[in-house]
Amino acid sequence: MRADRGGPVIAIDGPSGSGKSTVARAVATRLGLRYLDTGAMYRAATAAVLAAGIDPDDAAAVAAYVPGVELEISTEPAPARVSAGGSDLTTEIRGPAVTAAVSAVSAVPAVRAAMVARQRRLIGAGGIVVEGRDIGTVVAPAADLKVFLTADPAARAARRALETDADVGRTEADLARRDRLDTSRAASPLAQAPDALVLDSTDLDPDAVVAEILAALDRAAAPAGQQP
Ligand code: C5P
Repeated sequence: MRADRGGPVIAIDGPSGSGKSTVARAVATRLGLRYLDTGAMYRAATAAVLAAGIDPDDAAAVAAYVPGVELEISTEPAPARVSAGGSDLTTEIRGPAVTAAVSAVSAVPAVRAAMVARQRRLIGAGGIVVEGRDIGTVVAPAADLKVFLTADPAARAARRALETDADVGRTEADLARRDRLDTSRAASPLAQAPDALVLDSTDLDPDAVVAEILAALDRAAAPAGQQP
C-alpha cells in the first residue's frame, strides 16, 4: 500500500449485476475510504444528453455536448448522488430511459476522455475504492489492488431484476445487450486487467467477496519477505 499517496486505490471492474456496487461500498466503509461509482457518471452524462433532446446514438452531437456538462458526484460510501448543471439526477439515472441509452453514450471517445479525466481528478491522492468497467485497465492502471468481479448471467439478471422490480428474462436480455456493447466498443472496453484478482460472485455472498478483497489487500501490503 502506498501511504505516501494518501491511501490505497482499489479498482473494482466487472459487468452489470456482478455485485460491484454493494461490494465496493462495503470495502470503502470497512477501510474508511472514499467511493466512486463511475457508472453513475456515465449515467448522469446520458441523462443530460436526453434532457437536452440529443439523440444518444448521434455520436457527433453527444461528443460536442457531454464534455461541457458540469457533473457533481458524491464520494462517500453510499449510493452515488449525482447532478449535472445543478439539477439532481440521483433517481433518474437508474430509470429505464437512461439504462437503455447509457452504453451508446459511454462508447463515444470524447465522452470517455472527459469522464476519465474527471475520474482521475477525483481519485487524486488516493484513499478510494473505484468501480466501473475500465478502472484497472485505463483509469487507474497503477491501483494498489485490481479486482475483476463477475458472476454467471442468470445470477446477475436475477439480482438486477430484484433491485429494479423488472422481469428476469427481459433483464437478462438487457444485461447481455449492454455487456456486448461495453465489451466490443473500441474506446476502453470492459476488460480484465492481466494482474486483476478475478472473483466469481455466483455462489459467494457479498460478505465473502469483501473478505477476499480485504485479504488480497493485506497480502499486497505485506513486505515481500512476509509473503506466504
Ligand atoms: O455500472 P453501471 O451499470 O451503472 O454502468 C452503466 C453503464 O455505464 C455501463 O453499461 C457502461 O456502458 C458504462 N460504464 C462505462 N465505463 C465505466 C463505468 C460504466 O462505460 N467505467
